[in-house]
Amino acid sequence: MILTKTGEDLHLLKIAFREFYFNQGNMVEEPSKIQNREFGLMGFDGVMKRHLMFSSLGGLVASLIFETPSDVFASNAQYDFPTLPISEKGWRGAELIFDIDLKDLDMKCIRSHSYASCLSCSSSYVSGSQESCPKCGSNNIAESMLPCDRCVSGLKNEVLKLHRFLTSDIGIRPEMIGTYFSGNNGFHVHVLDESFNDLDSRARADLAAYILGVGILADAIGVTKDTRNDFRIRFPIGGLDHGWRKRISDRLGISVSSQKRLSNLIKDLGGLEQFRRRVAEITRDMGVRIDSQVTTDVHRVFRLPGTLNGKSGLTKILCTDLNSFDPFDESCQLSNREVTVRVTIPKLKLRLKGERFNLNEEFVRVPMFLGVYLISKGLAHAVRLDPGTGRFIVPASTP
Ligand SMILES: [Zn+2]
Ligand SMILES: [Zn+2]
Repeated sequence: MILTKTGEDLHLLKIAFREFYFNQGNMVEEPSKIQNREFGLMGFDGVMKRHLMFSSLGGLVASLIFETPSDVFASNAQYDFPTLPISEKGWRGAELIFDIDLKDLDMKCIRSHSYASCLSCSSSYVSGSQESCPKCGSNNIAESMLPCDRCVSGLKNEVLKLHRFLTSDIGIRPEMIGTYFSGNNGFHVHVLDESFNDLDSRARADLAAYILGVGILADAIGVTKDTRNDFRIRFPIGGLDHGWRKRISDRLGISVSSQKRLSNLIKDLGGLEQFRRRVAEITRDMGVRIDSQVTTDVHRVFRLPGTLNGKSGLTKILCTDLNSFDPFDESCQLSNREVTVRVTIPKLKLRLKGERFNLNEEFVRVPMFLGVYLISKGLAHAVRLDPGTGRFIVPASTP
């Protein structure tokens, strides 16, 4: 990780985070069987302390106020001995969790709101094709991104697709699904039905592949190779009314009574190979872009709901109504008191905590929540006023 923050930045971030845990510690969610969870606390120095244990929520929140970590994680697994090394912990099942992240969505808009910050001269610019800083030519660049409303809609759409898989294909009741905004560029979907906790890594990998649509072939709807006639159609005994069979046949506009139509469709496409390619396109499009590694790992630690995300200063928060959920408002929980920052990007428009900001000046007084957001994203630095001269003290350039 490239360090983009000055000592002054870290000072301000720690004040903001400590205030949050002191005043809003009640937002931190207690995981079930807290004494059986492994915790991890990430410091602002980028060092993660793992294998920690807390026997009560009060003890955890007290630690968060005292230590002020940048990020707080808890295992989805329950262990007999959470503080021991992995092989000695005594695994007792793990919550099934899915991760949907902007990086996996190929959103076209991302380029227009991605920024590069030069660590040599401290200027930022919209990242385009330039590999080096247009101002000083340095190659010492850190990338950052401010997601837009279109990104959020794209993520929500993917979460809704996942909900449909979980409820209609897997049979999980909707009230047993907890959907959280991660506080930065994604959503975490937690399955609260404990009957899934015993699934091992292999079973989770199969489930993830099914949801991604990996390995779903034309065979699924009964189209197979035939040495004499190129292909053969024999619809599955269970019909085409469920799961992937239904998704694919709906998209192709066929049913069990339209064998002739399907046959013509395959011929029109140019044969079996072309048809298989068409099915692969459909499954890629209709599958959910989950990060399968996250779902498969049964020893992972996950951001704890109700804690701050160090990459943004926003809170990981439960979305009770996904359609109306606005991450730029509801998850922004830091205080409104004013701080001074030096913005490193010439012009910046954004919306946060119900307010619109149009930043044109280099030195600006902004609410704490916005200052923390920009500093966390590498697009601003904290500044102090010199009590003697009344001028801004500009911290020395970043390390
Ligand atoms: Zn530069
Ligand atoms: Zn976007």
